Amino acid sequence: MVIVDKSGVHRLEVRCCDCPNAMSLDIQIPKTVFTFRVLDDFLLDNLECGTSAMNYYSKLQRMTSSMFPHLVPDQYRELMRVARQWRQLKIMKWHGFGHCSDTPSTGELALFCPACPQPGINNTNRNPNSRHRSFVMDRNFKAEHLHPIKPFDEVWLSNGLGFMVGKDSYKMHLAEAADTVEKSSCNNHRAVNQANAARHKLESTSIRGVACARHGCFVPHSMVDFQKGARQATCTIPHSRVNHASLADK
Ligand SMILES: [Zn+2]
Ligand SMILES: [Zn+2]
Repeated sequence: MVIVDKSGVHRLEVRCCDCPNAMSLDIQIPKTVFTFRVLDDFLLDNLECGTSAMNYYSKLQRMTSSMFPHLVPDQYRELMRVARQWRQLKIMKWHGFGHCSDTPSTGELALFCPACPQPGINNTNRNPNSRHRSFVMDRNFKAEHLHPIKPFDEVWLSNGLGFMVGKDSYKMHLAEAADTVEKSSCNNHRAVNQANAARHKLESTSIRGVACARHGCFVPHSMVDFQKGARQATCTIPHSRVNHASLADK
């Protein structure tokens, strides 16, 4: 069996259980195993150092055999898949979905600001004035995302469960919302330039979200990406999410 660990890639013999009620052999002995250590280490490296799966796996190969790294089994694709599943499992555990069969609903895999008043969570005062919250909208113009090479292979693990609005409700909103094209007299405004630019290769060009005005924490299920420049219709969805769905008497 190939065992991928933080210390390198190992080939070890593993004995399986042959009790009468044991599980079948292909479940007991998969071809490749990743240790929790290596998955945690990869996710941390990916988050803090921006290491891609390919670079990280090359490092493991080099650690295993500095003379012949190309002879170490190539489990790069497996690492990418398992790391995504591991991240998803940890997020589910952190948000309390570890040992129950409940499936999380929209925005439940993200946390909102702990300091802002939220009825039932950190505020038991019935006076409506004590629940006053203010929000700001912010936008990042540089969050560009390319079209996937094989869109039919894409699997959404947490569609609409975190900070981003679910793709189906976003599509429904875009289909319904009327898009009013605003002509700006300012000839160097970036949003206007972007709206007119041809961006066929990009799936999205920027990202917009709503945050609490005092502490800057983003609101779960309130971020959208912009598909062609600054469409007015796309701006309204984060706003409507804040008012109705995501924070309604949580
Ligand atoms: Zn046994
Ligand atoms: Zn806040």
